[in-house]
Amino acid sequence: MRIPERGLDEATLFDTLERYREHDLPWREGRVYGYVFDAGREAERIGKEAFTRFMSLNALDPTVYPSVLRLENEVVAMSARHLGGDEHVVGNFTSGGTESIILAVKAAREHARARGIEHPTMVLPVTAHAAFHKAANYLGVEAVVIGVDTVSFRACTDQARDAIDGRTALLVASAPSYAHGVIDPIADLAAIATERGVLFHVDACIGGFLLPYFRRLGREVPPFDFSVPGVTSMSMDLHKYAYCPKGASVVLYRNKDLRRHQIFACASWCGYTMVNTTVQSTKSAGPMAAAWAVLRYLGDDAYLEIAKSLDLAARRIVEGIGAIEDLRVLGSPDMSLVAFASDTRDVFSIADRMRKLGWYVQPTLGLYDARLGELPCHIHLSINPSNVPHTEALLRDLAAAAAEAPCPDAAGIGAAIRHTFASMRPAAVDDQVMNQMLGMVGMQSFGLPEDTAAINTALDALPPALKERLLTTFVNELFTQPA
Ligand SMILES: *Cc1c(COP(=O)(O)O)cnc(C)c1O
Repeated sequence: MRIPERGLDEATLFDTLERYREHDLPWREGRVYGYVFDAGREAERIGKEAFTRFMSLNALDPTVYPSVLRLENEVVAMSARHLGGDEHVVGNFTSGGTESIILAVKAAREHARARGIEHPTMVLPVTAHAAFHKAANYLGVEAVVIGVDTVSFRACTDQARDAIDGRTALLVASAPSYAHGVIDPIADLAAIATERGVLFHVDACIGGFLLPYFRRLGREVPPFDFSVPGVTSMSMDLHKYAYCPKGASVVLYRNKDLRRHQIFACASWCGYTMVNTTVQSTKSAGPMAAAWAVLRYLGDDAYLEIAKSLDLAARRIVEGIGAIEDLRVLGSPDMSLVAFASDTRDVFSIADRMRKLGWYVQPTLGLYDARLGELPCHIHLSINPSNVPHTEALLRDLAAAAAEAPCPDAAGIGAAIRHTFASMRPAAVDDQVMNQMLGMVGMQSFGLPEDTAAINTALDALPPALKERLLTTFVNELFTQPA
């Protein structure tokens, strides 16, 4: 494909764009339990309007557009206040949870280096978001993974205490974790971090915005934010339960002394004066203005109303799944994220069946490691406002899908894979073997087939290092450009 010699007319362009969307998830219909956080057309309209008004403004240089600086400071102020921050808490607006986390890890690394720790590490529960591993990889900070309780899926405080040593720059916990939707023992971990003199990041990317409303509704929400002494930084996404257009998150620090380590300034080149708070340099002010507008348009009242419906739906889903013979909810979800597994039915087949019935539920691979807590493969639901009216229908179809699903790994794919790879070292598996495997399980470069159960079963059986290699090979093929 090449740039057309003559520009196309508007109608052709937009027809084409719409046609491209044919096979996308139908997220507006409320039957998608993941990826989408939809509070309805009004919030969307407000976000869109603010987004387009500011999309061409460049937040690269906060001294050129005072409006952009002001919007960022106000969004961060609202976020800090929401998370129990006092007047010392500061932060920045970022493009998403991953960027917030990368920045918090970067700040912790610089903070440690300033104290003479040349090769810092961070201690994180196995349930912490993959973004921390990405940050570890990008920033050269070693990740020391600790386990969780096998019933509650909350971080194990004893393991945290044992894992912290002279190289630890940062301890990490989630409020709540993405996969199981449970809050780690934040107060206990904060006490350990304080006692050992390490920084403590609470990843409230998905929960930070919603949990205070759940607390106001009478749900038991343990202290998880800056009200807990020892919490030194936090991340909170606004493009999740604050329903802002995507590309909206904040990273917050207890004070400016900590945030200083996040900032990157460069005087070693000969272009414009360069000082960046975030990973992005040139960046659209659109997401920032949209977040500002949606927060102020909805306000506490609307957020509380929405939280009430999410709370009811989440409780009903936990109860309903608990009543389905073959399914069991993992842990005791603190919010509106629900994970469920099965000992008798193949969860990956259940996910495929649900897909055929017009739902999207998220099949999730397991992690099988006795020390870390044996985390079974499961189906994850991130419940968003548009799902609420579909709760009973979801439960009915889940019961039907579970009843029809075969037992786990009925075809023996997982067993065969485990057998084949049990004795192989990851280094011995070359690209040819990887490509053969992709073909074997039906993963082709032109996208995922309808039946993903076999693929997921195969992936689930692979050791993590091979999983990662296989996924890399797959995606490396997926992004093949048209001729
Ligand atoms: C979504 C999420 C992240 C990562 O956020 P992105 O916006 O996808 O980059 C990090 N932590 C938790 C707990 C999350 O749910």
